[in-house]
Amino acid sequence: MSKTIQSVGVVGAGTMGNGIAQAFATAGIPVVMVDISLAAVEKGQATIAKSLDRLASKDKISEIDADAAKGRILGTTDYSKLKGADLVIEAATENFDIKVQILKQINGIVGDDTIIATNTSSISITALAATVTHPERFIGLHFFNPVPMMALVEVIRGLQSNDVTHAAVEDVAGRLNKTAITVKNAPGFVVNRILVPMINEAFFVLAEGLATAEDIDTGMRLGCNHPIGPLALADMIGLDVCLSVLEVYLRELGDSKYRPCPLLKEMVAAGRLGRKTGQGVYHY
Ligand code: NAD
Repeated sequence: MSKTIQSVGVVGAGTMGNGIAQAFATAGIPVVMVDISLAAVEKGQATIAKSLDRLASKDKISEIDADAAKGRILGTTDYSKLKGADLVIEAATENFDIKVQILKQINGIVGDDTIIATNTSSISITALAATVTHPERFIGLHFFNPVPMMALVEVIRGLQSNDVTHAAVEDVAGRLNKTAITVKNAPGFVVNRILVPMINEAFFVLAEGLATAEDIDTGMRLGCNHPIGPLALADMIGLDVCLSVLEVYLRELGDSKYRPCPLLKEMVAAGRLGRKTGQGVYHY
């Protein structure tokens, strides 16, 4: 038995939700995008329209295709419009209680064979799967920001996820022109599990005075071919986000190698959170 995904629901119209909706719509798959307020829905739709118009102005997509993609997205606050979707992706605020409440709402509306997925970065896929009626049809689909540009999606199998569900989301990831990697459920999955400790190490190197921030970033750009240095990347992600991710790894994996660098903690305590506050490792 196999399943082909032909229609999608996305819950959450924020940074990730609107990017996910755009990616599906551009691939010709109709999307219902749900958020709690009309203002959030409209903001998500405006972001998608702007992004598609920019791609059209750069000839990355034709104007006809951009308009067709916009026309495939129905923005709404009405969860009942998710009925009939082959796949519903939860991409709302990163909070366990909020996600459980949303999943229960989705669960009450969709059909028995609908796949439910979550875009969570840090919450256990297995624990979220346990809150729906068919945990075997639940899976993690971790997209990267900005979704329309980033070629990777991590497919995270909860303990309960079955092979049909896994194959269906891998197939649809391919139709979005993305490459899927398969990951077992564990904190940080693969990419963030490696990336965030590297950023933490860059803070240790800075704190030990081994090199300047600029030289640390230049070293990793030119020595490892990274497009951006780890400290500049931390400023983009948000130092508070990096710190809370490390705290999750330390707590859940119980290994002291994840202890956050004291300098990172100091900077967060000072409110130097990166680009969003105008100062992090660098001034903006
Ligand atoms: P965001 O704050 O930009 O958007 C979250 C949206 O969820 C908001 O529009 C909010 O109104 C909506 N929402 C909250 N409660 C809701 C409800 N009950 N029903 C419907 N909508 C509701 O957040 P984001 O950055 O888009 O993150 C969304 C998810 O994606 C999180 O789980 C996050 O961990 C994950 N993620 C984020 C990134 C990133 O770089 N931002 C990358 C990968 C994964």
